[in-house]
Amino acid sequence: MDAMSVEELRKLPAVSRLLELPEARELIAQYGHARVTEALRTALQAARQAIQAGDIAPSHEALLADTAQRLSMALTPSLVPVINASGVIIHTNLGRAPLSERARRAAAGIAAGYCNLEYDLTEGERGSRYVHAARLLKQLTGAEDALVVNNNAAAVLLVLSALARDREVLISRGQLVEIGGGFRIPDVMRQSGARLVEVGTTNRTYVRDYAEALHPVNTALILRVHHSNFTLSGFVYEPTLKELVALGEEHGVPVMDDLGSGSLLDTQQFGLAHEPTLQESIAAGAALVTASGDKLLGGPQAGLILGKAEFIARLRRHPLARAVRVDKTTLAALEATLLSYLEGRALEELPVWRMIAAQPEALHQRVQRWRRRLQAWGVKNTTIISTQATVGGGSLPGQQLPSWALALAVSSPDSLAYHLRQPPRGKTPVVARIEEGHVLLDARTVLPEQDEELLAMLRLALCDFATPSVTH
Ligand SMILES: *Cc1c(COP(=O)(O)O)cnc(C)c1O
Repeated sequence: MDAMSVEELRKLPAVSRLLELPEARELIAQYGHARVTEALRTALQAARQAIQAGDIAPSHEALLADTAQRLSMALTPSLVPVINASGVIIHTNLGRAPLSERARRAAAGIAAGYCNLEYDLTEGERGSRYVHAARLLKQLTGAEDALVVNNNAAAVLLVLSALARDREVLISRGQLVEIGGGFRIPDVMRQSGARLVEVGTTNRTYVRDYAEALHPVNTALILRVHHSNFTLSGFVYEPTLKELVALGEEHGVPVMDDLGSGSLLDTQQFGLAHEPTLQESIAAGAALVTASGDKLLGGPQAGLILGKAEFIARLRRHPLARAVRVDKTTLAALEATLLSYLEGRALEELPVWRMIAAQPEALHQRVQRWRRRLQAWGVKNTTIISTQATVGGGSLPGQQLPSWALALAVSSPDSLAYHLRQPPRGKTPVVARIEEGHVLLDARTVLPEQDEELLAMLRLALCDFATPSVTH
C-alpha cells in the first residue's frame, strides 16, 4: 500500500465516533443500536477496501448515507415485480407465466385463511389433498387420474423413482436433453435410481431400436421427452407416441411422455408450429404424461402428472410424493387457471395466451401511444420498429410472433438498460433488450395494465440518463 492510502485510511473514523453523530442517532431510533452499529462496520469496511484500491477517504456524511442505504436495503424484499419488455413471453428468469387475475384472487383468498385442503366438508372428517385440481385436469385432458407436484422436474423424478428404480428406462439418444438450469434427463435418471438405456442415434431412432433394447423383466418404462428448446431437422426420424405405445402394449411396458410445456390449446391457430398438447398424449395412450404448470399452461409453478389411475395411485403412495407436494395457494391458482380453460375463456383471461394471441396491429397502436406520451415529455430520440417476439419457456424453439417495439436511440444503450433495471427504490424495474445499438421495449410482453408504469419508469430513467435530446 502506498503512503497516500495509509494516510487516507487514518482519516476513517471509529464506529463509536460515528454513532455519536445526530444522523446516526436518527438511524438508531429507526433501526436500533445493534443494526446501525453493524451497518456502520460494513460501510467502514467497504470504505477501507475502496481506499486500498486507490480512493480517498469518504466524509462522515458519505459514510452515514452509505449506512442508511444499507439499512433500508436490508429491510426490502429482494424479490420484486418487474416489467418484461424483452419480447420473451414465458421468460424463465422473469418468473415464467404471470398469473391471471382470477388465479391471483383464488391464491390470495386461500392464503388468507383456513381451507378444506385435506378436509372433507361433506363427511366432516379428514379428506384428501389430492382431489383438488385433479378433477379439473381429468375433465380437460381425458386422463383417468392426475397428481400435482412442485414442478415438472419433480414430476419426472417422482415417476422414475416410483416406477423404474433399479430397472431400465428406454430413451432415444435424440431426447437426452438439457432443459436449462441444469435439468438434464440423464442426471434425473441417475438420481431416481433408474438405469438409462439409450436407443437409436442422435438424429434417427426407430421403433425397432426400442424393440431390440426391450427386456421382458428389466424394462420398466419407455420414456419420450419433448425436445422443448431445440429442433431436430434434416436427416432425422423419431417414432410417434402412438407407435411407442403400441410397442409397449405388446410387451406390457408403460410409456411415459415428458411434455414440459404441455399446452392445452392448439398453438397453430396463432401461426406458430404445433406444440404437443396434453390431450393428444393422453389420447395416444401414454400411461403417464408430465408437464409444467407455468409454461404454456399459463398457471403457477407446478408439475402436472396425468395418466392411468393405477400408476397415479402408486405415485401418491411413494414417499417422495410428500417431499414434492404443492401448497394450497398453488392448488388454488392452478384450479382457477384450469377453470379458465374449462369455460373457454383462456384466451381472454390467461396473460400468456393474451400475449400470444395479441394482434400486431393492436401492439403497434400501443407503441404509438407510448411514443406520443414520451414526445409530450420532450423525449425525441425514439422510433417504432417491427420485431419478433418469442414464446420462450422451452417451447416452440425458433418460432416467432410478429411484434412492435419502441426503440430508444441513446449514446450508451447499456447504461440506459442499466438505469431501467435499477430504478429508485420502490419503483418497478424494466427489463428491455438491446439490438443494433438501440434499447428496445417490446409491446407483446408488457401487460397492458403496466403501460402507465412503463412510461413513468422510462421517463425516470431517461431523466437520470440525461441524454442531450431529453428536456426535463
Ligand atoms: C421445462 C421442462 C422440464 C422442467 O420443468 P420445470 O417445471 O421447470 O421443473 C422437464 N421436462 C421438459 C421436457 C421440459 O420442457
